[in-house]
Amino acid sequence: MARRPFVAGNWKMNGLTASLAEIDALIAAAGEAGAAVDIAICPPATLVGAAALRAAGSVVAIGGQDCHAKASGAHTGDIAAEALKDAGAAHVIVGHSERRTDHAETDAAVKAKAEAAWRAGLVAIICVGETEAERDAGKTLDVIGRQLAGSIPEGATAANTVVAYEPVWAIGTGRTPNNDEIVEVHSFMRGQLSARFGAAAAAGIRLLYGGSVKPSNADVILKLADVDGALVGGASLKAADFLPIINAAR
Ligand code: PEP
Repeated sequence: MARRPFVAGNWKMNGLTASLAEIDALIAAAGEAGAAVDIAICPPATLVGAAALRAAGSVVAIGGQDCHAKASGAHTGDIAAEALKDAGAAHVIVGHSERRTDHAETDAAVKAKAEAAWRAGLVAIICVGETEAERDAGKTLDVIGRQLAGSIPEGATAANTVVAYEPVWAIGTGRTPNNDEIVEVHSFMRGQLSARFGAAAAAGIRLLYGGSVKPSNADVILKLADVDGALVGGASLKAADFLPIINAAR
């Protein structure tokens, strides 16, 4: 099945109102690429509404970086998936390794957040990835298999779910797995999804690679088998860096 490439930017805890100019620049330059590639920017929650207004009707979709499992209630500082949707988001990242580490998010918590995303009508971008110690111990596929099983709810489809493989040791470090290692994990993930959700659903679910994707390595990484796009941190902050990555996905 032909999967439409998807390139998503994760701004993490970066970005002020002035940064919305980068979204304007992206929209102005990405029209042609947007015909072939789905594009999203996930700014900090404070900017989601304004970013969505700026991006309305353009090829750039807006996403959140996290959501709470509940739709509302006494959860100070948290953000409901419904609130992201209301602000104009189309996607939400769940289970990013920085959330798993900084906020002790378990696979079960990530799964509940993905269910919340679906409930609100958002696409869940569900992140998995091994630490360097786990890779060194030869446990990469065990870890990925366990995270996929625990973090993805029943009922995942191409329409409601994107899976991002993000080795923890590659995020923000300038290091990446080699091509064979990326292909091994992506092919394993496709197989796991197929065993659980059926070949047809698994063939449609997009698998992104994330971790130090830059203009200089995107061409190679985005052409690897079973890599359907990228989740990009640092290199998504500037339209001038993000655009070549989007173009590499075409
Ligand atoms: C990320 O945070 O999802 C990420 C992949 O970061 P970076 O591209 O900066 O490694």
